[in-house]
Amino acid sequence: MEIGNGGGSRVAADYSDPVTEYRPPIDDIAFAMRLAGYDRIAELERFAHADLETVTGMLEEAGELVAKVVAPTSRDGDRIGAARNPDGSVTTPPGFKAAYDRLVESGWLTVPYPEEYEGGGFPGAVGFAIQELVQSANMAFSLGPLLTHGATDALLAYASDELKDRYLPKMITGQWMGTMNLTEPQAGTDVGALTTRAVPNGDGTYAITGQKIFITWGEHDLTENIVHLVLARLPGAPEGTKGISLFVVPKFLPTPEGEVGERNLVECIGLEEKIGIHGSPTCVMSYDGATGWLVGEEHRGMRAMFVMMNVARLSVGMQGLSNSVRAHQQSLEYAKQRVQGRTVTGERTIIGHPDVRRMLMTQKATIEALRGLLMLNAVQIDLAHHHPDAAVRERAEELAGLLTPISKAWGTDLGVENASLNIQIHGGHGYIEETGAGQFWRDARISPIYEGTNGVQAADLVSRKLPVRDGQSFLEFIEELRSLLPDLRSLSERSESAGPDRGAEPKGLTVVADALESALATLERTTGWMRRAGAGGDAASVLAGSAPYLKQWALTVGAWVLAKGVLVSEGDADRIALARFFASQLLPEVEPLAAAATAGIEELTAYRF
Ligand SMILES: Cc1cc2nc3c(=O)[nH]c(=O)nc-3n(C[C@H](O)[C@H](O)[C@H](O)COP(=O)(O)OP(=O)(O)OC[C@H]3O[C@@H](n4cnc5c(N)ncnc54)[C@H](O)[C@@H]3O)c2cc1C
Repeated sequence: MEIGNGGGSRVAADYSDPVTEYRPPIDDIAFAMRLAGYDRIAELERFAHADLETVTGMLEEAGELVAKVVAPTSRDGDRIGAARNPDGSVTTPPGFKAAYDRLVESGWLTVPYPEEYEGGGFPGAVGFAIQELVQSANMAFSLGPLLTHGATDALLAYASDELKDRYLPKMITGQWMGTMNLTEPQAGTDVGALTTRAVPNGDGTYAITGQKIFITWGEHDLTENIVHLVLARLPGAPEGTKGISLFVVPKFLPTPEGEVGERNLVECIGLEEKIGIHGSPTCVMSYDGATGWLVGEEHRGMRAMFVMMNVARLSVGMQGLSNSVRAHQQSLEYAKQRVQGRTVTGERTIIGHPDVRRMLMTQKATIEALRGLLMLNAVQIDLAHHHPDAAVRERAEELAGLLTPISKAWGTDLGVENASLNIQIHGGHGYIEETGAGQFWRDARISPIYEGTNGVQAADLVSRKLPVRDGQSFLEFIEELRSLLPDLRSLSERSESAGPDRGAEPKGLTVVADALESALATLERTTGWMRRAGAGGDAASVLAGSAPYLKQWALTVGAWVLAKGVLVSEGDADRIALARFFASQLLPEVEPLAAAATAGIEELTAYRF
């Protein structure tokens, strides 16, 4: 169908709910897994059943289900939203409950968990791949399973066996959902300022009292019970983050048989009205002497919470990918249908305008680069947990630490940028809610804020991750990235000597290799500056440059991912086109970013606000 070809109506097209259509990009996901070294995980004995071919088959099935069952709920989720009733209960938008029940029945939510707790026994990377599908289908809906995932990981790592047995099987199967309760009005980024209290009841339980705000899926009607993980302070606890403990506080107290029992003293006293993700209830939660159980040791709650946050950070980075994918799918469809003016390429629709092409290429190239980065991150987490060699585990842990803030911050920034490009590609129709282009943008806008704002991610990169082994961890990774260059140049030379029949594309590889080499040199130089400034005690200048420094990393790893994609695909023309576009149009920003990263604190403080 062509859009805008006469007709004279104000609405240029029959949009007929374009937001609900989702085409799961299974081939691209499987490709990213291959590129990220998924085989290293599948080689491990415990994952012998999880080879990439089997996993791809699983992703196809999961993708079909979420496209059919979850994606159609996204539009009503936005338009109708979740609502709080006078009795404090929360009603989710139409279709959410049925879609959630189908998802639970399908078993896809259990995939990455240990079999002893009803999990599927697959690697975490496979779980992340499934997350891309669910998040793309409906971001607001997917936040419930996402937070349950984080809560489950924290319990797996730190809870007593008794708590694990009581909660994990129900949370892993999706029968009960989990939440994460950190934020209070005065304690946002500064979690250490929280005042919620936990007083021992003398029977091994604690009475939790306080108010939490912005709690995602804090109350709802999808599951029979909700398991809140709550940060609180014990009497006499030290100030700041060193005095925080973690508690599990269920909405309904489980009976000795593990079923839903008496109502606990926790309730949702309000729902926030938000810019986007209207289908996700964002709750003000009141704890009024609610019964809770300690998870891990007293005052060591932040340690457990970090387990939860690291998983959630990667998942939120994935939101940026999912938003980008949905935005791009809609952009492409529109650009192939909308007729407007004569194009220089002779194509009938706006896809023939070079500037529209530039926007589509920006979306597509950043999507593929980001997916590769996220998968690389997920594979490192699996290796860190499961590889038999301690040295491999240790290095994977370092790399996961380095990559997580980049995945979160760059991923979520891209989610917003690509959704904004989608609106731009739609022209004025993008600004009209009817097309649905606005929803992706509104939904995406929260991701750079929660799970540690992107400013906090940049601070984490330079303050916690860069000092690991005095910066050697970063420098070694730069060297690993550099080791791709000889293969890239040799493919380029082989292709050129094969003659013109191979097509024009091989020449582009020299551009890619040169640009990547130059970006790596700049990144290494900036890393040196950061280390020196840090060692010299100029923490303010290091923090002042942290966001541009993080973006330098993101662009360089992104370019590397696309270049590696060329090698993995053995010179596929589309992969070369993406790598070339990224290397020549996006990667050059690494150089001016170096100037910003190393400018120092004075550039930010000289102006008198
Ligand atoms: C829709 C939604 C869902 C949420 N879900 C949950 C949830 O489920 N559970 C939960 O516990 N919380 C949740 N949150 C809270 C969210 O994590 C916080 O909003 C976020 O951590 C930021 O805290 P704040 O809003 O108080 O902002 P502030 O901390 O006041 O930050 C304001 C600004 O200052 C900057 N800033 C502050 N401190 C630093 C620093 N040290 N370094 C650099 N920059 C800094 C920030 O980057 C930001 O730009 C949610 C929030 C929203 C809006």
